[in-house]
Amino acid sequence: MNVQWYPGHMAKAKRMMQENIKLIDVIIELVDARIPLSSKNPDIDALAGNKSRVLLLNKYDMADPKYNEMWKKYFEDKGFHTALINSKNGQGINQIKDIVYKACEAKIERDRRRGILNRPVRAMVVGIPNVGKSTFINSFVGKATAKTGNKPGVTKGKQWIRLSSKIELLDTPGILWPKFEDPAAGMRLAFIGSINDDIIQMTELSLELILFLSKYYPNALKDRYDILIPDNLESIKDGVGVLEQIATKRSCIMKGGEPDIDRAALILIDEFRNGRLGKVTLEFPE
Ligand code: GDP
Repeated sequence: MNVQWYPGHMAKAKRMMQENIKLIDVIIELVDARIPLSSKNPDIDALAGNKSRVLLLNKYDMADPKYNEMWKKYFEDKGFHTALINSKNGQGINQIKDIVYKACEAKIERDRRRGILNRPVRAMVVGIPNVGKSTFINSFVGKATAKTGNKPGVTKGKQWIRLSSKIELLDTPGILWPKFEDPAAGMRLAFIGSINDDIIQMTELSLELILFLSKYYPNALKDRYDILIPDNLESIKDGVGVLEQIATKRSCIMKGGEPDIDRAALILIDEFRNGRLGKVTLEFPE
């Protein structure tokens, strides 16, 4: 699920993206509604050139409703055609065909003036790993469509899925690397489980999550674990106190009777990722 990125992988992903982009009219970019900037590929704008753009805030069911609309507006103001979607249960998917088509209006108009009529617009889905690309494609495509198969003149092996008489979708998404040069973005990606856990110190990560939650969502911690959260929790040491409380509540006790904070850390991260601490947005529009 989580891809390890090396320079070679990134170069290959970039090359594939550049190749595929030549074939399409519109890019459907998925980001995670909980971290819309941190889950955005840093180079996508350069790669996209002048293609039409749709930006979908996926997993909005896990994000704070208070910020969902703000983020939607943020991207609309930047010129994206945008929607909040839940690819898992299909919420918001119905509107996507119209949005994709609308994003291509200028291109369709240009075609019309050149005498090209009724040519379907071609789209591809892109995003970093785990953002929900495959789930989205399944939901978007549904059952009722047939693959159009390889077409002459198109790079061998590409499969286009006909979504309507107006839209065709490349069946495989473009996988792009996340923003790992920025440590804060890297941490948010780790919070939601989009970075390989092998390379993360989970207890440290949980302490960072506690600092964030105690500041913006203190009740999420209080309600889930029935514990006390000190006001103005600022130091890692205070965070350890919270982990100790979680450990005690969940009966994670070491042989000597000490609370097992490493186990509590794993529980917290796991439950957070599964949405058990409620709807949380991890970064906010300016
Ligand atoms: P990909 O790597 O971008 O293709 O991501 P996947 O489609 O494999 O999805 C990654 C995980 O996110 C899976 O466990 C999906 O079930 C889950 N997922 C995808 N979309 C949504 C969504 O809108 N809401 C929620 N809650 N989960 C989602």
